[in-house]
Amino acid sequence: MNRRGILLYSGGLDSLLAGKLLLDQGIDVVGYHFILPFVAPDADPETLAPSILAKQIGLSLKHIRLGKDYMAMVQNPPHGHGKRMNPCIDCKIYFLRYAAQLLDEEDASFVATGEVIGQRPMSQMRHMMRHIEKESGLEGKLLRPLCARRLPLTDAEKEGIVDREKLLDIAGRGRFRQIELARQFGITEYQSPAGGCLFTDVKISERVRDLLSHHPDYSMLDVYLLTVGRHFRLSSSAKCIIARNEKENNELLKYKSEADFFFAPQFKGPCAFVRGTLDGDAINIIAAAIARYGKPDENNKLIVQHKPEKAIISLPDNRISEEYLKKTMI
Ligand code: SF4
Repeated sequence: MNRRGILLYSGGLDSLLAGKLLLDQGIDVVGYHFILPFVAPDADPETLAPSILAKQIGLSLKHIRLGKDYMAMVQNPPHGHGKRMNPCIDCKIYFLRYAAQLLDEEDASFVATGEVIGQRPMSQMRHMMRHIEKESGLEGKLLRPLCARRLPLTDAEKEGIVDREKLLDIAGRGRFRQIELARQFGITEYQSPAGGCLFTDVKISERVRDLLSHHPDYSMLDVYLLTVGRHFRLSSSAKCIIARNEKENNELLKYKSEADFFFAPQFKGPCAFVRGTLDGDAINIIAAAIARYGKPDENNKLIVQHKPEKAIISLPDNRISEEYLKKTMI
């Protein structure tokens, strides 16, 4: 009898509580944290909020950075998208299938989640939870500690690995019981439900859609950069990102060598990162846009880097219209 389980952990209150309920039964729990593509490529997983929050319950964590196979699922989720680009049902199936494959390697008996029946439309409806369990190949091996007593017995409960009496019967959208439990367990900090997922964000969803449809050869850096700066669709083959502040400027500078074109003003102003091909007109448009967001002075020149060449250009005489910026902004 192996008293070890895998917990899908997000840093939200529900997964923290699920972990705590299992740890308090003396079960050896390993948390798996999936890092969404919007987290900076150079971020240290140990410094991310979920890692810090896991310390409150003494949960040990492993991190999985999601890549292009995850994005392929985001692009074509068999169960469709939610309100935005969030493919919640298939995203859960993806995570659970991943965990299912780890059972042997981790020498674990079950996979647990912080799901609660009826808490979210679609993916946490009872029939859908059953469907997700089947689709992920975890029939009988998927434990939802917060609502387990409302669900059929899992193998881990039948075999006495987990004590069902110490699991809960929470259901519905209310958060009262979870907040009360957090207080009892001394869990003072947690992320808001789905709060960290930018696939539910209107703006980011629009950018994800744009990237997937115009740049099929996109990189995971391109996905991360959807969270940085102002984005302009200049043509079907070219997109430009202009920083909004110093932090974003530094971020774009960090990935300068990955850009197809990179613009750096020699006056106070933002850098621009371009994916795709540009003609002379488009170069002038970007230069004018940089001038619009910057403060050109007598040295009104920009460095344009196009691998491996570098050119210094002057600002065009024409100013860019607000209407053009609005029309092309993603
Ligand atoms: S909110 Fe985001 S991370 Fe959560 S299931 Fe939906 S797509 Fe996946």
